[in-house]
Amino acid sequence: MSITAATKTLPFNKEQLELIIAEYGAPFHIYDEQAIKENARNLLAAFRWAPSFKEFFAVKATPNPHILRLLKDEGFGADCSSLPELLLADKVGLSRQDIIFTSNDTPAQEFVQAKEFGAIINLDDITHIDFLAQTAGIPDTICFRYNPGKMRNDGNAIIGNPQEAKYGLTKEQLFQAYDLVRRKGARHFGLHTMIISNELDLDCFVETANMLFDLALEVHQKLGIRIEFVNFGGGIGIPYRPEQEPVDLARLGEKIHRTYDQKIKSSALHPLKLMMELGRSITGPYGYLVTRVLHKKEIYKNYVGLDASMADLMRPALYGAYHHLTVLGKENAPLDHLYDVTGSLCENNDKFAIDRPLPRIDIGDIVVIHDSGAHGHAMGFNYNGKLRSAELLLKEDGSVKLIRRAETIEDYFSTLDFKDL
Ligand SMILES: *Cc1c(COP(=O)(O)O)cnc(C)c1O
Repeated sequence: MSITAATKTLPFNKEQLELIIAEYGAPFHIYDEQAIKENARNLLAAFRWAPSFKEFFAVKATPNPHILRLLKDEGFGADCSSLPELLLADKVGLSRQDIIFTSNDTPAQEFVQAKEFGAIINLDDITHIDFLAQTAGIPDTICFRYNPGKMRNDGNAIIGNPQEAKYGLTKEQLFQAYDLVRRKGARHFGLHTMIISNELDLDCFVETANMLFDLALEVHQKLGIRIEFVNFGGGIGIPYRPEQEPVDLARLGEKIHRTYDQKIKSSALHPLKLMMELGRSITGPYGYLVTRVLHKKEIYKNYVGLDASMADLMRPALYGAYHHLTVLGKENAPLDHLYDVTGSLCENNDKFAIDRPLPRIDIGDIVVIHDSGAHGHAMGFNYNGKLRSAELLLKEDGSVKLIRRAETIEDYFSTLDFKDL
């Protein structure tokens, strides 16, 4: 059992958090506005060299209008993949080419709405061309999602196995697809892929850029179609573990700059627009799930029961993902206890941590679960009658704003009719 370990910092101390809990009640997710803004600015600064760069925040990561709005104010667009996500983007004032619609297995109604908003439509399959033509019509601008199948990164590390992924078109289909949509009237073309997820090695992302640059050049050479934008997708990871390092965005920008200069700058594709649809790395590290200890029990193992459950953050239960825990006021105490930290679902995998070295925990302690800012509240659900928690925004001036209230029992019953039982 380790006695000391790397730590993670918090944007508030115990006294501040006690006041916030007194006002809003635990559990809740709280997002750090200033840190999100700084991170957004760092990303844009890393690509300032590019002829054009746009980040479309993956709405699914944190589908809250206040978050989308603050990212919009930094110059971000939105990456949507469902009708409600499109409507959310519209409601925060994003429009037309500030929205990219990257969906799969798409219902007709969603294509119709995306077309109506003038969003960039990114097709997941060659058969969707006819489906789109019959439902919404072929837009002026169209993008395709590429699935490279089996791939290696310079002969060493395999950077994923896209061959097993349901997304995108094969290379052969991609060439047919561009030719087909051109004949159907499309005039502007984009190329997209997303082959990594939660990846901390920036070279995997550079490899994605390389691959898309080469492919865009090949499309131009073989079809005479000039791809105007390439979209590297999302997938930049975050340091969930305190000993991990975040991706150095400035270095990532420099490396992609180098390959852009080598491959694109003197080609017919220059100036080529660059796009990303990052979700996790934009908000993930700047969200915190704040919980209170309800119970302790000692059987074959020692358990700490929180007032939150996997309905508030399901990554640990779903993927065995590590989320760092800080026990407020005990930051410097020795990690001389070993606990399983649980929620209250009747599901044995409802655990935020298993065999985690922590300081001695007492009932009433505040436990903060780190890195809940993306794919956290968003993945919430109501199984076992659990109600989803509130979301708060810690503003730059230190004040706190409720940006989503907690669910109530009325919300839970709102789709039921008790009248004709
Ligand atoms: C989920 C997703 C993203 C965002 O991925 P992150 O890992 O959160 O960066 C981007 N694009 C598409 C198509 C996605 O499905």
